[in-house]
Amino acid sequence: MEAFQYTQANSVASAVATRAGQTNGATTQPGKFIAGGTTLVDLMKLNVERPPSLIDINNLPLTTVEALPNGGLKIGAMVRNSDLAHNDLVRKKYTALSQALLSGASAQLRNMATTGGNLLQRTRCYYFRDTAYTACNKRNPGSGCAALDGYNKIHAVLGTSEHCIATHPSDMAVAMTALEAVIHIQGPDGEREAPIDEFYLAPGNTPQLENVLKPGELITYVSLPPLAAGTKSYYLKLRDRASYEFALASAAVVVEADDGANGGKIRRVRIALGGVGTKPWRSREAERVLEGHAASEHAFKEAAEAALRGAKPLRDNAFKVQLSKMCLARALRNATATV
Ligand code: SF4
Repeated sequence: MEAFQYTQANSVASAVATRAGQTNGATTQPGKFIAGGTTLVDLMKLNVERPPSLIDINNLPLTTVEALPNGGLKIGAMVRNSDLAHNDLVRKKYTALSQALLSGASAQLRNMATTGGNLLQRTRCYYFRDTAYTACNKRNPGSGCAALDGYNKIHAVLGTSEHCIATHPSDMAVAMTALEAVIHIQGPDGEREAPIDEFYLAPGNTPQLENVLKPGELITYVSLPPLAAGTKSYYLKLRDRASYEFALASAAVVVEADDGANGGKIRRVRIALGGVGTKPWRSREAERVLEGHAASEHAFKEAAEAALRGAKPLRDNAFKVQLSKMCLARALRNATATV
């Protein structure tokens, strides 16, 4: 780990102003905000991240989960993952989000990790995290991609490019994508917001750019839109072992269906996949297959086929295509069984 300058911020305004001051004229890697540190400190120890300065935002007053007047939910960026997972409103109304959070990492890490930090997790690609490999376009733009011809079991099959095939690691972000979360941002130029599906960027020619945050911008909170009465959601995660492991495939589904349990007509559904995409993967193709049709095994399988139709498997990760289809079909079955 390299030496860095450390500053504490006590307000959003001072955090943003301090970063803006450090960003102006910066010639090396930019400074970073640090919250729980559960990703950043790891990467600093590995010399993947070498920020010259850290601004500690643990004192910022962004720690509440509040019901919004429109029936939605406002989640402060500093709300710890464990607090969010066990929040009553989240457990009852946004069940998939609670399930996704509890499936991630360990209890100790969830006690430290924050909502904003979780959204900004970096990939678990082995070649990104090991600086002995020089070819990594995400870490070192223009250097190539060691994973393309390397061991790519954990890599993505959706949203890949010839420059990067890294999988997005967050469970929480997959559930938030199906819940159509909006990310609220404050920066030197004021406040703005981005729907979560537009917040993340596919790698394309610039895998080093993972989201739309501009230099110095800070995530302040996340809002979830209200859900229609009777909406059910479910998050299912499949992985090599039952705890402390990243998803090989996961699915978050949010279903509005007519009464009558399994067999009722699906009025609206939102679907996101994890473990298979370069970003939390919203599947509007699968949603179109299901909407207006009865919940049935046949419909779930058709939706799963549609979701993975554009998959581009590589040597070691072809199994993910089938695994992801089964994961989505089972998540839909579980969600509609309780509608
Ligand atoms: Fe780097 Fe992406 Fe290739 Fe991994 S998949 S080595 S992160 S460019």
